[in-house]
Amino acid sequence: NSDLILYTDCVLVNLESKRRYVVKDMLGQGTFGQVAKCWNMETKNYVAVKVIKNHPAYYRQGLIEVAIVDMLNQKFDPDDQYHIVRILDHFVHQNHLCITFELLGSNLFELIKPKHPRGLSLNNIQMFSQQILQALVVMKDAGIIHCDLKPENILVSSSVQPLIIKVIDFGSACLEGKTCYTYIQSRHYRSPEVLLGHQYNAAIDMWSFGCIIAELFLGVPLFPAVSEYDLLKRMIETLGAQPPDSLLRDAKKTNQFFKHVGSTYCMESEGVTTAFRVLTEEEYEERESKRPAIGKLKFKYVKLEDLIANYPYSKNMSKEEIRKESFSRVALVDFLRGLLELDPERRWSPLQALHHPFITGELLTCPYEPPSETRRKPIFDAVTVDHNPGWGHWL
Ligand code: ATP
Ligand code: MG
Ligand code: MG
Repeated sequence: NSDLILYTDCVLVNLESKRRYVVKDMLGQGTFGQVAKCWNMETKNYVAVKVIKNHPAYYRQGLIEVAIVDMLNQKFDPDDQYHIVRILDHFVHQNHLCITFELLGSNLFELIKPKHPRGLSLNNIQMFSQQILQALVVMKDAGIIHCDLKPENILVSSSVQPLIIKVIDFGSACLEGKTCYTYIQSRHYRSPEVLLGHQYNAAIDMWSFGCIIAELFLGVPLFPAVSEYDLLKRMIETLGAQPPDSLLRDAKKTNQFFKHVGSTYCMESEGVTTAFRVLTEEEYEERESKRPAIGKLKFKYVKLEDLIANYPYSKNMSKEEIRKESFSRVALVDFLRGLLELDPERRWSPLQALHHPFITGELLTCPYEPPSETRRKPIFDAVTVDHNPGWGHWL
């Protein structure tokens, strides 16, 4: 194992700046390293230090993470408004790259776990969606693809209402136009274009975002797939369509899943996937298998509309509350449809999604038509709804 052995009160030192960090607790364990809660002896406050495994590929990947978060923080979000974790320091301690971040709270997976088998209230989901979208707008402006959006990589930053969340873990992120890896995204949140080995862009993050929002509502992953084949099958069944022919025509792995019959594509029986990345395929699979499972994943291959409309209402809801929530659920489905669009060209951008009635609280009268993307700079004021009377407190 290439992890550094950390114990309470051991000290991580930045030899250049002489800053010292005293390990107090473990916050998490990821593929790339461990994250420890540390006491910064200089500033006298707690921070989170990600201690990367002593492995050349992970070290290089860690430096990319530092560069990307640093750029996002300084150049694109100097006032810390757009829900991206703050990087504070980085150094090498005993051959391990250490990255210091602001200390955050629990991740969204831990937040929904105790609620199982139910998810969060629509009110909270709307609030979280808006915050994640703001981070996604900034990332898109910076030309950054996160490549690993999932509930474990979204953290609550304060436990007081209204809840503030932040996107973390840019350890798999890359620049748009420099997408060198083909095996990315955690399986449940993997987009159809990545799965099929097609070229991709920032739209893959919007797919993962859609999966996360559905999971926050359902309390369990929307596509709890056990293999890539299972994932594709679930996508097709749940969304009622298969990826567009244009995607299937150009994707490298199409023939692992589909047969070309006449002028159309039909899904084949289970295929074998090949892949490469910073992580080997085995490492990736091991990581997938370590993802904590919540309860029994009962639903399987159900249409998205039915899944959400028929999801049990909370027992303590009045008739009026149920009536209101049924309207919001229609808005949620319409919102998810634009994110879980199988054609990446037609999938909504973060800015387009920010204008959706599910976010703005406006009444959805017909399927939402996103505004065309002409503006370069985000104008959050137009769509930031601090107090949204339309939402009430429907649990
Ligand atoms: P992955 O396997 O997802 O690639 P990783 O090795 O890249 O993980 P991170 O996702 O950065 O590591 O961190 C692992 C876990 O540590 C997170 O899911 C989170 O629970 C915890 N964590 C990370 N950063 C912080 C922070 N700033 N404050 C509090 N907890 C954190
Ligand atoms: Mg992570
Ligand atoms: Mg990571």
